[in-house]
Amino acid sequence: MPTEPSHFSDYRESRFQFCPECGGDLVREQISGRLRLRCRKCGEVHYENPFPAVALVCRNERGELLLTRRAEPPSVGEWCLPGGFIEVGETVQEAALREFKEETGLDGRLLGVIDVASRVNGYWGDVVLIGFETEVIGGVLTAGDDASEVRFFSSDDLPEIAFDTHRKMIEVIRQKEQGRS
Ligand SMILES: [Zn+2]
Repeated sequence: MPTEPSHFSDYRESRFQFCPECGGDLVREQISGRLRLRCRKCGEVHYENPFPAVALVCRNERGELLLTRRAEPPSVGEWCLPGGFIEVGETVQEAALREFKEETGLDGRLLGVIDVASRVNGYWGDVVLIGFETEVIGGVLTAGDDASEVRFFSSDDLPEIAFDTHRKMIEVIRQKEQGRS
């Protein structure tokens, strides 16, 4: 796994060394204004894209926020919103509800998109995060999957949140809430 870099750079290590089309060596070349991966053997240019991910902001009837404690790197032991990466064969919404169920044991209903955020050159490379406001419609609160603990926190007593993209979602929903009142 890549380590957390100190700053953004146009050049970064690729996850791939060999061409997925032909197995040839991949090299970095300046192509259309960017350093891109090109196969030495077949010449194919391999474009690199961010990974799409989801996070869920769920509050109970007391306005407390549901957080999961991370059991897997990065940031083991820190708290974050339930969520994860979208997989092939599922829609963004299906991924959101699947991750919610896997990590919290709860069945959710998506109320709407809160915001979209980018993380550039982080632990997983580049990530695009879509945040959903969510309500619980069933299930039993149980930490599962890559969470070691899951619970609701009062909004004035939140722990340190592991990811800046998650902090952004929480901040947006807070501001929205203040606008309502
Ligand atoms: Zn190739």
